[in-house]
Amino acid sequence: MPTYYYFTCLKCRTRGGVFGEQAWGWGNFDMIESFKYLAHHIRTCGENSIRVISEDVDDYVDQLHGEYNTFLEQTKHIFPHSKDWEFLDRWKTLKVEEMKLKWVEENRIMHPDDRMKICGVLDAVDILKEGAGRVSFSASVTDDDGKVWKIVANMRELPILKHTYIIIGVIQEHSILGEVIEVYKMIPRVSVQEERGNDHDSGDNRAITN
Ligand SMILES: [Zn+2]
Repeated sequence: MPTYYYFTCLKCRTRGGVFGEQAWGWGNFDMIESFKYLAHHIRTCGENSIRVISEDVDDYVDQLHGEYNTFLEQTKHIFPHSKDWEFLDRWKTLKVEEMKLKWVEENRIMHPDDRMKICGVLDAVDILKEGAGRVSFSASVTDDDGKVWKIVANMRELPILKHTYIIIGVIQEHSILGEVIEVYKMIPRVSVQEERGNDHDSGDNRAITN
């Protein structure tokens, strides 16, 4: 039996859009309606109001037909110029199965990417330079496979020792440190638990400046 999921807005206490999950995977997904519901309520009620619920949750009320028709009117301007419409129009003679393949073919990124991504724990930090609200540092990171990487970065504040980060950067040859990842972006990997509880780290074990 499929389970249906809806997008909801905490503020309006309504639900909209729908996707069904079948025993064999994803079922129907009302793309247009879901997107419009999200875009509309994010704009009018704020993204923090958006949730996903399953059909079992019943502290949301369905929209009356008049309210739903108003929603359609209010959101008709949302993505009228989408490239997706063009795609569908261009390939409208294809069957759905063929269109799925066409979508993959047209959207595949062909040019090479010299960036790399690691996820690991920050073991040690050395400050290289500080000033003007920025800090340059080198650090050692042990990734999920146990490999140790040297990274260099320039950020507004030091990352926190013993915390896990997702790091994107490129491999560079550093004059002193040898092979390093020059960091483009470094963000904490927040566990689902923390995210839900909004339990942000107090920063107590932030790397100490020496
Ligand atoms: Zn809303």
